[in-house]
Amino acid sequence: MKSLSPNQNFSLTSLYCSTFGHSFKISNKITNYINEYKCKTCGQEVTNVASGDIEILTFKNREVNACLSAFFQKKLQRIS
Ligand SMILES: [Zn+2]
Repeated sequence: MKSLSPNQNFSLTSLYCSTFGHSFKISNKITNYINEYKCKTCGQEVTNVASGDIEILTFKNREVNACLSAFFQKKLQRIS
């Protein structure tokens, strides 16, 4: 795949984040130990994954989280 403008998404906010780091805030709580985070500066979204790493919130990760979240809610309802 040829890309004519690899820096298409380059902006001042992403420059700020790559220099000073993202300032993530929890945007969506999935389970007790998995959350989705959104950078309040550039809007980049990441998530914890089961292995404990942090990954960029891709469409696939979002789907996995949606399943996890539904599963977790059911489990909570059973307990209470
Ligand atoms: Zn950022």
